[in-house]
Amino acid sequence: KSAPNDLRAFWMPFTSNRQFKSAPRMLVAAKDMHYTTADGRHILDGTAGLWCCNAGHGRPRITAAVQAQVAEMDYAPAFQMGHPLAFELANRIVDIAPDGIEHVFYCNSGSEAVDTALKIALAWHRARGEGARTRLIGRERGYHGVGFGGISVGGIVNNRRFFGSLLAGVDHLPHTHLPQNAFTKGQPDHGADLADELERIVALHGAETIAAVIVEPMAGSTGVLLPPKGYLQRLREITRKHGILLIFDEVITGFGRLGSPFAAQHFDVMPDMITCAKGLTNGVIPMGAVLTTAAIHDAFMQGPEHVIELFHGYTYSGNPVACAAGLATLDTYAEEGLLTRAGDLEAHWQEALHGLRGLPHVLDVRNMGLIGAVELAPMEGQPGKRAFEAFLRAYEAGILIRVTGDIIAMSPPLIISTAQIDELIGTLAEVLTALD
Ligand code: PMP
Repeated sequence: KSAPNDLRAFWMPFTSNRQFKSAPRMLVAAKDMHYTTADGRHILDGTAGLWCCNAGHGRPRITAAVQAQVAEMDYAPAFQMGHPLAFELANRIVDIAPDGIEHVFYCNSGSEAVDTALKIALAWHRARGEGARTRLIGRERGYHGVGFGGISVGGIVNNRRFFGSLLAGVDHLPHTHLPQNAFTKGQPDHGADLADELERIVALHGAETIAAVIVEPMAGSTGVLLPPKGYLQRLREITRKHGILLIFDEVITGFGRLGSPFAAQHFDVMPDMITCAKGLTNGVIPMGAVLTTAAIHDAFMQGPEHVIELFHGYTYSGNPVACAAGLATLDTYAEEGLLTRAGDLEAHWQEALHGLRGLPHVLDVRNMGLIGAVELAPMEGQPGKRAFEAFLRAYEAGILIRVTGDIIAMSPPLIISTAQIDELIGTLAEVLTALD
């Protein structure tokens, strides 16, 4: 029998930061705002797990709902069958989604939601009886998970370059560059005309070849990159003008991260589809979803006969235990006002975070809703090393942060108190101050 700390058989080939050869830090329990480590320490969760535990950990209502559902009915087939919780959850999601979103397609993760949305987009023009549109447009530094669709439209070259030919006909918009030392409080002002790059791509290929544009309203995983004012609005205008679908990947921004249920509402831009996951079940049970308009739904359900031959679905689509977790999660968000809480906390969060300006190595600080990033100057010849060192020391000092390259990202559970914000940022300040 293996000892609990025996790591021999564990293999996770693509985890980032492996270049720094650090053993995993063992977490053994979680409650509310804290993890407990194998050696009994409490770690303040500055990242909501992996941007997913928006209501914090071990919430009794969610735990009880999951336990009860496992006992009641553990699984029901997704095809030709239904169960009430799947319908109830879909209705509840639509209730909080932007106006115009009327249908929910379930899957099991953010990556699956992205692949599903891309497939819907590619099939949609045909479903309406138009010709095929085969091109997709993503964004540099966009992150859309690790499925073949997601890495194709994703803007991280390293994530896709070893995996063959991927989806053909993908272009990438330039990402919304922030000037160095922008120290951005909320949405930056500059460069909405960046969205006009889309017109250039449309002119190059012809609108009739382009199925969809997919963007994160605010890129999370690649370093909290905030869209400049007007950027998303302009993307919407251009896509609408050319009959191109606009997909918002809200796997991170969905469920209250920016102070409204979805970023689409925060920015007041209505996409044709929204992908979500993570916060949908508070991270407790894997679940993702694609939210669509009636126009998209109807094209498939009422379109030409051949559309019926299309097949897409997952064994675990809308599985009862995930639905129970989702419903209890939405109840918790509603009861505790969590979907708007990031807005209430934003001023305090912003002030605390921007207090880090001027500390050694800090190049930039940016924030929006209850998400923030601190960009560090890279170590000579060792990109990512300084931020990774900060992550290790932060963990030792009792806070969990996330690093991507030399950017520190934070997205605490939406239940965080102002005192805990001060603790999180205060501890980070001490870590940064002592950093080489
Ligand atoms: N899209 C976005 C915007 C994400 O942030 C992520 C995960 N960080 C994904 C897709 C992929 O989600 P998953 O890891 O659940 O497949």
